[in-house]
This record gives sequence, C-alpha cells and structure tokens, in this order.
Amino acid sequence: MYSNSTTILANKPSIHYMLLLKLIINEKNFWKTFPTLDPRTGEVIAHVAEGDAEDVNRAVSAARKAFDEGPWPKMTAYERSRVLFRFADLIEKHNDEIAALETWDNGKPFEQAAKIEVPMVVRFFRYYAGFADKIHGLTVPADGEYHVQTLHEPIGVAGQIIPWNFPLLMFAWKVAPALACGNTIVLKTAEQTPLSALYAATLLQEAGLPPGVLNVVSGFGPTAGASLASHMDIDKFAFTGSTDTGKKILELAAKSNLKTVTLELGGKSPFIVCEDADVDKAVEMAHFALFFNQGQCCCSGSRTFVHEKVYDEFLEKAKARAERRLVGDPFKGGIEQGPQPHLHFLRFCILNQIDSVQFKKILKYIDYGVKAGAKLETGGERVGTKGFYIKPTVFSDVQDDMPIACEEIFGPVQTILKYKDLNEVIRRANNSRYGLAAGVFTQNIDTANTLARALRVGSVFINCYYIFDAPIPFGGYKMSGIGREKGIYGLSNYLQVKAVVTPLKNPAWL
Ligand code: NAD
Repeated sequence: MYSNSTTILANKPSIHYMLLLKLIINEKNFWKTFPTLDPRTGEVIAHVAEGDAEDVNRAVSAARKAFDEGPWPKMTAYERSRVLFRFADLIEKHNDEIAALETWDNGKPFEQAAKIEVPMVVRFFRYYAGFADKIHGLTVPADGEYHVQTLHEPIGVAGQIIPWNFPLLMFAWKVAPALACGNTIVLKTAEQTPLSALYAATLLQEAGLPPGVLNVVSGFGPTAGASLASHMDIDKFAFTGSTDTGKKILELAAKSNLKTVTLELGGKSPFIVCEDADVDKAVEMAHFALFFNQGQCCCSGSRTFVHEKVYDEFLEKAKARAERRLVGDPFKGGIEQGPQPHLHFLRFCILNQIDSVQFKKILKYIDYGVKAGAKLETGGERVGTKGFYIKPTVFSDVQDDMPIACEEIFGPVQTILKYKDLNEVIRRANNSRYGLAAGVFTQNIDTANTLARALRVGSVFINCYYIFDAPIPFGGYKMSGIGREKGIYGLSNYLQVKAVVTPLKNPAWL
C-alpha cells in the first residue's frame, strides 16, 4: 500500500503532498476508503470502500465463477425473471429511502428522485424481467439439407461503469438487461455518488440473486475503472460517461482482450424553436430541456436555437423563467434545482480529476462565455457561500464557435442562438461532434418531420423532451456513443448469437 501511495504522490504538487501526509497519519485506512459528500454543505456523509485493481480482480473472479459454475445462467429464464420482479418490488417498497440517498449524495430534488427516477428504476427492472423468458433465437432458412438454428446466449461477465447524474437509473439501464439475459456483472459506481447502487445491491441479494452474480465496486475512474476496462476476463463492457473517458475505455478494451464495448457518451443537443411555435410553451419546454436535474443530463437541450421572428419575445421570457427557478435545499418541497455534486478536495487532486469537479467546471464555462462576447442575461454565479449551488444562467447572442456553444457544460447554463431559416438551423444543429438528441418545437407537422429526419442524432423529441420510458431505445450518433441501450435494442448488447447447423438426414460420411 505504501509503495503504491508513493508512486501516485510523486507526480503531485507539494502542497497536496503535505496535506495528504497529514491525512494518512490522521485517518486510518485512508487509501481503502473515500469520503462521499453532501453537496448542500460539502460535509462528509460517509466513508466508502475504495476499490483498487486488486478488488476489481476479486470481483471479476467472483463474477466469472458465478457465470461458469453458478446457477444464474443455467436456471430457467422464468426463475431469473422472478428474481428481477422481486427486486423491482423491493425498490418500490423502499422508494423514499432510495430517493433520499440519491438526493443526499447527488443534490437532486427529492421530489424528482422519489416521483420520477426511482419509479423509473422499478419500471426498468419490470420491463427487462418480462423479457427474460422471451429471449430466443431463430430457425434460419439456409441453402441445402440443413436445419439451422440460432441460440441467443449470455455473453459472460459484463463490466459496467456508470456516471453520477442519475446514479440508480444508470445502474438500472446497465444491470437490468444484463441480468435478464443471464450474464454476471462487475459494476463500478461513480466516485461522487456511490451510495444508492451499494444499497440496491443488498436488495438484489434479498430478492434472491445468487452470490457472485452482481459485484459492485465503489472507486475512482483512473484506478478501479481503468482496471475493469482492461481486465482480460471481462467479456463485454458498457460505459456511460464523458466522450474523453469513452475513448480511453475503447483503447483499454482494444489493448486487452477486444471485449465488445457499448458507449453512452456526451452531447450538445440542439433544441429548435420554430417560427410558428407557441412561445410561452416553447420557453417552458426549452427551460425544462436544459435545467432539469441541475442541467446535468447527457442529452440536455443545451443549444437553444430560436427563430429570429420569435427571438426577442423568447429571450425575455426565458430569462424571466430562469429567474423564477426555485434553487435551494433539494429536500424541501417545491425546489426545482439543488446543488451540483462534488468530490472530496484531496481525492480529486490526487487522482488528477480536477476537471470532473462540476461546480468549478460550470463557473469556468460561464467565464468563457462572458470573455467570448456572449451576453450574460441572468445568473452567472454561485448561490451563497455554502454548498455547491449555481444560479440558473442564461446567455444570449451566442455564436456557434464559442466554447459555451460547442462544448458540454453539464450545468444550469442556457445558451440561446438566433437563426433565420430551416436549412440554416439544420446545418448548424448538425455541426457538432456530438449527436445524442434534439428537441423540435413547432405546430407544423411538415417542419417536425423534416427536422426529425435531417438531424443526425439518436433521439428527436417533438414538442416534448426527456421522454425516457424503458421501451424507447437511447444512444448517440457520432461521438455521443456506440450502440443503443433500453428497449428491445438493449438486449442485444448482452447476448451472443450462436449458429447451430444439423444435417436433415444422416450425412454420407457418418
Ligand atoms: P466521466 O467520464 O468523468 O466519468 C464517468 C465514469 O467513468 C465514472 O464512474 C468515472 O469513475 C469513470 N472513469 C473516469 N475516468 C476513467 C478511466 N480513465 N477509466 C475508466 N473509468 C473512468 O464523466 P462524468 O463527467 O463524471 O459524467 C458526465 C458525463 O457523462 C457527461 O459527458 C455526460 O454527457 C455523460 N453521460 C452520458 C449519458 C448517456 O447516456 N449518453 C448519460 C449520463 C451521462
């Protein structure tokens, strides 16, 4: 342990070295636990086990053994589905406790967690539980006198990494289809929000999941995460997080055992307000598309394109709406926006994760916006001095090449851009390295259909946003990802297809 610590420290600034030494002396087992913070105050909620490469090895061995020797892949699909249904019932039973963990660890409004997110987790597990005994292959009409069938088999051990913005929902997107197909899993939680997944894992045990089938490792990306992505005994990898980390995961997978990889990555999604839009409704929907979940959604409508005919009215009303947004303690009723999640100071210094401290990153982008010449209409600063709250922020006069218009801010910052005609907005909306989602607000069905087909993105929401029911596939074009999760499409990520060929009659050579 000490030799590891010294290696890591050797690359760090001396001030951190001193602080760290103090902590090692004062805090027992510093290297095997890490604090998770309450973003309302910055206070420590709990110390969580810090998984390292050795822990990842142990988790993968347990998952391998459970796959190769355990009952899970071999039990009847109906029995598997019953475990998943029982788990969904347990989540439903503990709805408010789980929602409280999400709010405490992440900062999201409790009402949002309790009324939207945890019920969605239940829906996800029931949706995929229902699929477990409906997964089957085909009879294939091949040339010649052969009976050809395909078997749809579990892939094996799945490695999964999730982000912090929807901790338990991301757990559900990954775990539910993998288990329904009969795989075993090692999942790494995000370092900012480990609590709900750890709790859910105990409920899966209570639901009857056999030992070793799901292994949750709480730990950091460059250590536990990288060990998992490069592990030789992981058969399939599913990652949700930033595009930069997604590239690293692909590289690690390619350099190790060529495990198949699906990636759900970042976005800079256009929300297009057409000239015929009802402006009041468009303002409300665009506000929701950007500010929901503190602006921390991979597919948030983070480039608000507004037609020049309605631009001035839209801007005035969008600014007023942002100023009315209720920011405060996420446990209080009616609060729309809580604080941004945070990492323990020493941890992000040690692991060079400064960039993942959302609060600072968002304020930095606001500064870039001002310096680039965009007009700060409202917000632009933190709220108070305690905790990590940011005022709902609106920029106008935004140009396509400004950092706030082309890079992912992942915070409550709306950037409003003006356009003249449909062809122009299609070109500008598609002019992004990302292609996750788009919003279209219009009363004209022709315009809606034209945009839906022209936009190079994985999801188009017409006169709505964030409709995320379990059967709807989700994923990105371009650098927003590889593959699709959710719905029937999400099953193929966790299945191998085997062709079995049998002669119809005894062949002459037997
Ligand atoms: P991130 O990539 O920094 O972290 C995500 C996860 O990856 C965390 O669990 C982290 O520990 C892990 N990780 C970090 N570095 C790693 C490494 N070198 N090797 C292995 N694992 C590593 O992303 P973030 O900033 O924490 O999360 C926000 C990002 O996630 C945004 O870009 C957002 O768009 C994206 N996201 C995408 C979706 C989607 O479905 N497309 C959903 C939610 C979030």
